Amino acid sequence: MENNIRIAVQKSGRLSEESLKLIKECGIKFHNGAGKLKSTATNFPVEFLFLRDDDIPGYVADGVADLGIVGENELVEKNKDVTVLKKLGFSKCRLSLAIPKGEEYSGVGYFEGKNIATSYPKILGDYLKLKQVQAEIHEISGSVEIAPSIGLAEGICDIVSSGSTLMMNGLKEVEEIFQSEAVLICNNALPVEKQQIVEKLLFRMDAVQKGKKNKYVLLNAPNASIDKIISLIPGMRSPTILPLAEEGWSSVHSVISEDQFWENIEELRTAGAQGILVVPIEKMVL
Ligand code: ATP
Ligand code: MG
Repeated sequence: MENNIRIAVQKSGRLSEESLKLIKECGIKFHNGAGKLKSTATNFPVEFLFLRDDDIPGYVADGVADLGIVGENELVEKNKDVTVLKKLGFSKCRLSLAIPKGEEYSGVGYFEGKNIATSYPKILGDYLKLKQVQAEIHEISGSVEIAPSIGLAEGICDIVSSGSTLMMNGLKEVEEIFQSEAVLICNNALPVEKQQIVEKLLFRMDAVQKGKKNKYVLLNAPNASIDKIISLIPGMRSPTILPLAEEGWSSVHSVISEDQFWENIEELRTAGAQGILVVPIEKMVL
């Protein structure tokens, strides 16, 4: 179809599963058989390209794809001119500098005149410039953590999530230089018809994200406590109050963020709330 939008997603890796899950939660159906590089949705005007994440910013900048889902680390490193439409909240990680465990570290000046191995020469270069540290950047594409032990570099700059890979390689994290999560990116010159489809997709993504952040709460309370309880869980517009079969009691239904629920749980119970249920919300449109 002429007016399909194309979304580039990672073929296989740490972004793939969550990217496809988000698309499915938006109600978009498609088949992605193993090894397939392209797929068309059956119920939304969208086509998927399954690519290496390194290629996604470039494909979106060039217009080969209209949208893409990629980590901010890869996006900033590739330095392509695209628009970030939305942070997606998954594949969170950080880029850090690390040095051999036994070394004494006094501050970022440690790296002056040293050799640092990384797959992120741009992000690292920008950081060192900002800190006014002169160091040699040694670009390698993978297995960065072994560089110090084989004498290739004195330090590394790489993605860290738990830190266990660093530890296994006798390294310690000394500076966090960049924080990343998955983002939805868009070509800068989309034709209006495509923009309209993108709007529809964004509307669905917002509904999914809002749903995740909120919970549906149901509880029973004596009628005398209802005002207090409403003030604790005010809901989207105002809570629903239904009478229970038992005289003098009501059921209160509301929508609140999970954090707000935990903050108010003791007060709710003190106010007389009982039989409290907290239920996930699939989608939420305000
Ligand atoms: P490709 O083969 O597509 O080039 P890759 O090996 O470069 O994949 P992955 O390891 O799959 O990349 O990671 C993809 C992205 O996921 C990273 O660029 C980063 O944004 C994020 N990421 C990396 N490691 C983690 C982690 N441990 N936890 C969460 N997110 C991570
Ligand atoms: Mg990659």
